[in-house]
Amino acid sequence: MTIIKRFAVVGNPINHSLSPFIHDAFGRQLKITLQYDRILSSINDFADVIRSFFDGGGSGLNITVPFKEKAFSLMHNLTPRASRAFAVNTIYLDEKMRLCGDNTDGIGLRRDLEKNLAITLARKNILLFGAGGAARGVLGDLLEAAPNGITIANRTPEKAINLAQQFKLLADTHNVDLNAGGIDLATKCPYDLVINATSRGLSREAPNDFKVLKDGLVYDLLYGEHSKPLLELGKQKGADVVDGLGMLVEQAAEAFCCWHNVYPDTVQVLQLLRSERAQ
Ligand code: NDP
Repeated sequence: MTIIKRFAVVGNPINHSLSPFIHDAFGRQLKITLQYDRILSSINDFADVIRSFFDGGGSGLNITVPFKEKAFSLMHNLTPRASRAFAVNTIYLDEKMRLCGDNTDGIGLRRDLEKNLAITLARKNILLFGAGGAARGVLGDLLEAAPNGITIANRTPEKAINLAQQFKLLADTHNVDLNAGGIDLATKCPYDLVINATSRGLSREAPNDFKVLKDGLVYDLLYGEHSKPLLELGKQKGADVVDGLGMLVEQAAEAFCCWHNVYPDTVQVLQLLRSERAQ
């Protein structure tokens, strides 16, 4: 009898998640039979949801909004990239059945920018909106690409400032000018690359404006309807614009490889996802 390995993504809300589609497509491509579900959790139930999934024989979990930082606190073991991010988006069990947390968001974003979009990050000035789990996940990888500077702008400035302090050593190591504060920083100077890592698209609250160079890029981790206002504004400012579907597929591929030890073809699945969503 073939045992079908079970995987899931946990979040709140969760109905919108495209992860089951992506992991099913990777599985078909590599002829790996798997089950991948969505699990809705409340804040209070989150720890129980994780434990009962693995106690019930589950093989791996993805964690999405708003639980990445909470998941971090529940792990017995962490990969270096999850450890420095203080946020976990991928969980598996080690040989001693302990919970291990990884973070594939940063590598996912870099692969989309550098491999899929052929963007060079070195010597660029980057604006990063947000200081939550996603921003924590991508910041280390962005710093390692040695841009000229990264400015973190967040609705709650203290969270941005704390995040910058946590990554100061890495920023110094790569000679990156790391600044942080409120969303007013977004209009201080024109940036080469503007990345939205908040859970809100463009709104009256934030991020509501930014300066971007004419040949710059506006990259929204959001996709679909949620990314439209910000990307529209980016276009009006003369920049290229991209939504977060490519990152979504790339971070999923890294999680898939962590669970199945084989790397899927992401280009094929991204094309499939975009064509499905265009219908
Ligand atoms: P968190 O809940 O951890 O953080 C939310 C962030 O958004 C915080 O910086 C928060 O600011 C800000 N924010 C929330 N509401 C508002 C608002 N009304 N106005 C201004 N700022 C707001 O979420 P995550 O960081 O985990 O995820 C953020 C987004 O990124 C999600 O929508 C997620 O789907 C997306 N994402 C996409 C990925 C992809 O592969 N494309 C991968 C990972 C995430 P404050 O600190 O002030 O509360």
